[in-house]
Amino acid sequence: MKSIVVANWKMNPGSMKEAKKLFEATKKAADVSRNVTIIVAPPAIFLRELSGAYKGKKLSFAIQNAHFERDGTHTGENSLAQAADAKAQYVIVGHAERRAAGETNEDTEKKVVAALAQKMTPILCVGETTRSHDGEHFDYVREQLAVALSQVPPAKLSKILIAYEPVWAIGAVAPMTPRDMHEMTIFIRKAIVDQHGQAGMNIRILYGGSIDETNALNMVRDGDVHGLLVGRASTDAKKFASLVQSLNV
Ligand code: PEP
Repeated sequence: MKSIVVANWKMNPGSMKEAKKLFEATKKAADVSRNVTIIVAPPAIFLRELSGAYKGKKLSFAIQNAHFERDGTHTGENSLAQAADAKAQYVIVGHAERRAAGETNEDTEKKVVAALAQKMTPILCVGETTRSHDGEHFDYVREQLAVALSQVPPAKLSKILIAYEPVWAIGAVAPMTPRDMHEMTIFIRKAIVDQHGQAGMNIRILYGGSIDETNALNMVRDGDVHGLLVGRASTDAKKFASLVQSLNV
């Protein structure tokens, strides 16, 4: 099965020149991959130049965040229409770092609706900040999903990617175990089916948090996920190439 790998560059690298270099390496990794669909999410300021120069078909582009309104008085924001115009087909919604900066579940709901209206694929990030023995993290994730997807008709669920990213595993030493991810995948599917009916079975689920070339394949094989959202390892050209290579099985 083909895996999806989202390369979230976050606020890296420091210049267009370096961004082009990193993109060249990412492009090479995509060109030689058979089983991986790569989605690159560069900083918005680099997006148009990178996507405009790219003539291949092996990778697609995402914007790391966008406003749900089409235009207006929102200093410092980019709209989904502007992102689509710069050839982004995907948008990351509700990343943990955006949530920490104030993005609410209600914001994610509006962004998911606006992205679908723009014919873009939302990559909806959910995940608890901490875990406790009494399983409160499941309620937390269920609530994030319930609000963000509340306005999505069942037929549109297959157009959405859910990225489960436990906040405690982002930027950490190691990811969560594939076994725990498997449990979470089942939980997420069930939560969506409970809310939206059988169409929820079609939703695609990614894992994100401390994935690199040493653990990517195990997570895809044993975590029951359609792919991975990768932060740090996506901005290291060598690591990213080996990560993609490791999934070419
Ligand atoms: C992220 O921030 O989405 C992420 C997965 O980061 P990292 O891979 O660096 O843990």
